[in-house]
Amino acid sequence: MLRQYELVEKVKEYDPDADEALLNRAYVYTVQKHGSQKRASGDPYFSHPVEVAGLMTDLKLDQETIITALLHDTVEDTLATIEDVEHNFGPEVARLVDGVTKLSKIDAMPEDERAAENLRKFLLAMSEDIRVLLVKLADRLHNMRTLHFIKKPEKRQRIARETMEIYAPLAERVGMYEYMREMQALAFEQLEPEAYATITGRLEQIRNQDGGQVDAIALAIKQALSEADLNVEVSGREKQTYSIWRKMAERHVSFDQVSDIMAFRILCEDEIDCYRAMGVLHKTWQFIPGRFKDYISTPKNNGYRSLHTALMYENSMRVEVQIRTREMHRTNEFGLAAHWAYKQGERPDGQVGWLRDLIEIVDASHDAEELLEHTRMAIYQDRIFAFTPKGGLFPLPKGATPVDFAFAVHTDLGAHTVGAKINGRHMPLRTPLNNGDVVEIIKGGDAQPQLSWLGFVVTGKARAAIRRSVRLKERAEVAELGTKLFDEIAARLPTRIGKKATRAAIKRLGLEDEEALMYAIGAAKLDDREVMEALVPGSTANLAEEPDWPQQDRVISIKGLTAGVGFHLAECCHPVPGDRIVGLRKAGEGVEVHTIDCLQLASGIDADWLDLSWGRRSHGALGRMRVILYDRPGTLYEMAGIFAKNLANVMALEQVTRDTPFQTYEVELEVQDLAHLTRITSALRASDAVAQAERI
Ligand code: MN
Repeated sequence: MLRQYELVEKVKEYDPDADEALLNRAYVYTVQKHGSQKRASGDPYFSHPVEVAGLMTDLKLDQETIITALLHDTVEDTLATIEDVEHNFGPEVARLVDGVTKLSKIDAMPEDERAAENLRKFLLAMSEDIRVLLVKLADRLHNMRTLHFIKKPEKRQRIARETMEIYAPLAERVGMYEYMREMQALAFEQLEPEAYATITGRLEQIRNQDGGQVDAIALAIKQALSEADLNVEVSGREKQTYSIWRKMAERHVSFDQVSDIMAFRILCEDEIDCYRAMGVLHKTWQFIPGRFKDYISTPKNNGYRSLHTALMYENSMRVEVQIRTREMHRTNEFGLAAHWAYKQGERPDGQVGWLRDLIEIVDASHDAEELLEHTRMAIYQDRIFAFTPKGGLFPLPKGATPVDFAFAVHTDLGAHTVGAKINGRHMPLRTPLNNGDVVEIIKGGDAQPQLSWLGFVVTGKARAAIRRSVRLKERAEVAELGTKLFDEIAARLPTRIGKKATRAAIKRLGLEDEEALMYAIGAAKLDDREVMEALVPGSTANLAEEPDWPQQDRVISIKGLTAGVGFHLAECCHPVPGDRIVGLRKAGEGVEVHTIDCLQLASGIDADWLDLSWGRRSHGALGRMRVILYDRPGTLYEMAGIFAKNLANVMALEQVTRDTPFQTYEVELEVQDLAHLTRITSALRASDAVAQAERI
């Protein structure tokens, strides 16, 4: 394990300005916080963050990254808090540590809930700061190096599989080939122990037989190229056991048939030389058709550039060759971050400079897009990833809310949503989700989608489901109302109304069926007199006028509140009996009752949330609506008539705008309950005088 002074010296070597005291403090902090915790190896736990920090110094990363590496497990695994980290090491380190901690959620997820591809995207999207991802990759690499200490074979398998499926591809994605290869090798050894042993043994054998063959071939290549006046560097190596294995698996061949177990790298002065060198090699040795790839003119997504080819050496041995410039090589090895540096040009102070630039650019939002374009992460920037409490992962468009999330999980869950907890706290349903949020949807048995949700959902799935449900529900409610009204109307007639009379009336009115009749009555498209006339022609001649205003006595009781607790209906959303409601208990203020989708709930996140419902006999409350009338004589009268017919007392009426051809009114009505208010809204919408009517 690196000692404290060794680590600090390593950082000082490439960054003389590093804050020695702060680095020392971080070292001591992690030692103290992890205390007597132990690794599976029996080493003290803090050896792990120290080694991870060491890996980060090899990449010459800045001091914030080194400190983050030292602290990366303190918030997750010890009593330390992010606030404490921020207090001691500043906001930047706190943000980075928080980022790494969030990435660790992945490890806690049950395996069958994670699609590897989704996880890779999640990790990328989470790593808004590349340093978070680098620390996470180093963390995983060190855990793989010490994997053999873990006793439970299932756990070793799980970690190895995860590394193979998620972290190695991710390292490749950002161009960290060294990390990728080592992770693959270690995971392979764990996952396929027999194959690993066989291949390692065979390689050993070959090495003993033709010792020095790698060097001999490298020399031959170098000679051939210098005869063509090409000044190059040639290096050779045996290929990784894992890549040999993969080749065997992909091509269904045995070890003997995988003959290109050696790979050579040729570094040239410039691009032209790369192509010339390849020409020379192809003339000198026979090349293997189908193996040539030009990643110079068409770089890989992560910026990797090189020529690849395979040759038949002395008619018996197939060797792989990579040709690139020195600049390309550096870019390839350091990956995504160095790709940026390459654009920036050489810097005298080594790697620290490019990293600082990179971070500054990430921080300055207007340049972030440019950076993302370089790093090819842009495709993930319009998406966020949110978790179910059990660890299920759902990709959603940016701006998605808990309602979108609920519908993404299951249509049925979306339909029954009544509330949501985000990261354990009750939040309004319209809250936009952030990457990595854990969303718990609170279900109500008989709850239904609300029309108002259309104002904030962003996914097509949620939108379509809400529309459909609201339409069906509205129609059903209105028809049900119509049925009750119909019975009342029928009772006022001198004769008993049977099926036959009803059918005749439907025909007389030119309606489709009974449901259409009830809907028309409920929506006040037909008034009582028209219905009576249709049922018994001539029956309305001697009928008295409309009844008087009813007595509007208010009886409000709320279930869920202890007896005697003071409450009041919120002024912002004016809940009426029938609305789904929630109570906010603020210190010293009693309980404020809001509708469940009230905008003001956002300001109540620190209050106590109470799950409330209306008492059975509650009725009478103020309903507020906005009605847009056509701007022509008689429309106001028409609206007033609808209120009167529906026995709703107008408490206030205000013209808010008049933009020909419309005039907009805001109305306060005394209504019995939600059904009453809905009925009035439906009647207004059915009227020719009204362009639009909605509750506010
Ligand atoms: Mn760790």
